[in-house]
Amino acid sequence: MQRMLNDAASFREEMIDGYATANRRFLRRVPGASGVIARGAPRAGRVSVVVGGGSGHYPAFYGLVGEGMATAAAIGDVFTSPSGEQAYRVAKAADGGAGILFTFGNYAGDVMNFGMAEGRLRAEGTDARTVLVTDDVLSAEPEEADRRRGIAGGFYVFKTAGASAARGDSLDTVEALTRHANDRVRTAGVAFAGCTIPGQTEPLFTVDPGRMEIGLGIHGEPGVRTAEQVPAREIAKLLVDTLLAEAPAGGGNEVAVLVNGLGGTKYEELFVLYSGVAPLLAEAGLAVHEAQIGEFVTALDMAGCSLTLFWLDDDLETLHDATASSPAYSRIGPDIERVGFLAGAATASGATESPTGTERGTGTTEPTEATVEAVGGVAGETARMALREALAAIRAAEAELGRLDAAAGDGDHGAGMVRGFTAASGAVEGFSGTARQSFVHGGTAFQNAAGGASGALVGAFLIAVGGALPASDEEVDARAYAAALAAGLAAIQRYGGAQPGDKTLIDTLAPFVGALGDAANGGLGLAETWAAALPAARAGMLATTRMTPKVGRASRLAERAVGFQDPGATSMYEVLAAFGRAFGAGAA
Ligand code: ADP
Ligand code: MG
Repeated sequence: MQRMLNDAASFREEMIDGYATANRRFLRRVPGASGVIARGAPRAGRVSVVVGGGSGHYPAFYGLVGEGMATAAAIGDVFTSPSGEQAYRVAKAADGGAGILFTFGNYAGDVMNFGMAEGRLRAEGTDARTVLVTDDVLSAEPEEADRRRGIAGGFYVFKTAGASAARGDSLDTVEALTRHANDRVRTAGVAFAGCTIPGQTEPLFTVDPGRMEIGLGIHGEPGVRTAEQVPAREIAKLLVDTLLAEAPAGGGNEVAVLVNGLGGTKYEELFVLYSGVAPLLAEAGLAVHEAQIGEFVTALDMAGCSLTLFWLDDDLETLHDATASSPAYSRIGPDIERVGFLAGAATASGATESPTGTERGTGTTEPTEATVEAVGGVAGETARMALREALAAIRAAEAELGRLDAAAGDGDHGAGMVRGFTAASGAVEGFSGTARQSFVHGGTAFQNAAGGASGALVGAFLIAVGGALPASDEEVDARAYAAALAAGLAAIQRYGGAQPGDKTLIDTLAPFVGALGDAANGGLGLAETWAAALPAARAGMLATTRMTPKVGRASRLAERAVGFQDPGATSMYEVLAAFGRAFGAGAA
């Protein structure tokens, strides 16, 4: 339960403001974007390391921005990836001409949104690469190690990347070393109590007294299994055994060790845990190069901890020991002579001195092609009504969508969709363009504001629907919408790669698109055509209850999701039904 809150909607903005103002000696805000950049960055000819993800994990990710650490961080809402637009703007501000390395935890929303930023940078001629953090051994079997999610071990991956970039390595080298670090880091964790999102009253999950969750997520996802709570020394044994069973081939016998508190566990308890871990590592013949105990990746106020082992070799040890200076982590290493910033050679630009107050605002409203040209008619008016109806429907369903998403996901689906449609309706308010322009304009605002997997996908859907509608409102009819919805479905599949049956919003949308096409061929008006297709969408949505998720965040806790309707499939049905109400009214 948070007590330091003004308004949940402005939580992120106020949090970044307070953070950046206090830490001006390390970093500054990126003007017009939701992110921070190291003081003196970008430096010409140096690779920039861009990290990020949702907030609620401090000191991940933006606490690790500074000299010898990450160059910049894109900051999303609580437990929600930053949008592609925000990630792009932060990376753009960090570009020093030698390339960008994105590195972040392997979550569908982050992968899609950072992926969009990476694609845009590449299209502009900037070399951009990505290394995903996949250290959570309990989140997928060894054969599927690349599907594992990123948790506390990300600290070592980011440190490796930042140190490599800081000494002037090429992008090829920074990328290879960062990948190598991820290949040698393993984490396992336990949780004793869930966490509560700012503004909500209930935790995302609860743990029965005397039980604990094994294989926690850092977004309030429950553990992979529950077990009886045991004394600290047995937890130490469980975690050490789990990690040693997954030791990397040829890993050697020297490790760095990180005991991470999730936000609601005292440091003293973590010390007790380590008193059990250290002898077990010695027994297993491992030499501890260095241990760190504290909070490195948190999940709001979640009670629990994780243990990370990082198998070092000469390269990784050098980078591990290199000098670093960031708000949450600093050390002086053997390379201190070479690091100019402490010797007064910091290239503090004028921008670092500007008061953060002038850099406020995340600039979520982008001008688009839609603002000029063709003047819309009835279809444009109806399209805007559809976006407003969708907002009303999603608002009414927000709590239920959050509840469904909390079953195996992170509980943010309702909030993200409300943010998206609020931005979409806001963007077309007072707008008089065509239906095509309204959807493109609204979808762009949606994508920028919503974040998360669904923010990227539903935003892309709205943009694609708009893009496929005729340029003239006169030609917008049932057939045109059937074709446009098919284009929207194709866009979601192109970005997200999901198939029908994977337990996603596709299971609502695909049958709807099929039925809409059939009905449109019957020559009926838009309202009747839409009404004829909605039952197929509803049946598809209901069918997700029995499905096992194959993609996205929920796929890692697949069994927990069975018996719950998919949140994205549910919101997609609400949106389609809301559009239908607008089309019915508009066609009258
Ligand atoms: P996040 O998973 O980033 O927290 P949300 O909670 O907002 O995002 O959205 C979750 C929903 O997104 C899921 O219920 C599912 O319907 C949809 N989804 C996730 N990944 C995909 C994908 N690859 N393709 C289609 N839909 C997806
Ligand atoms: Mg979610």
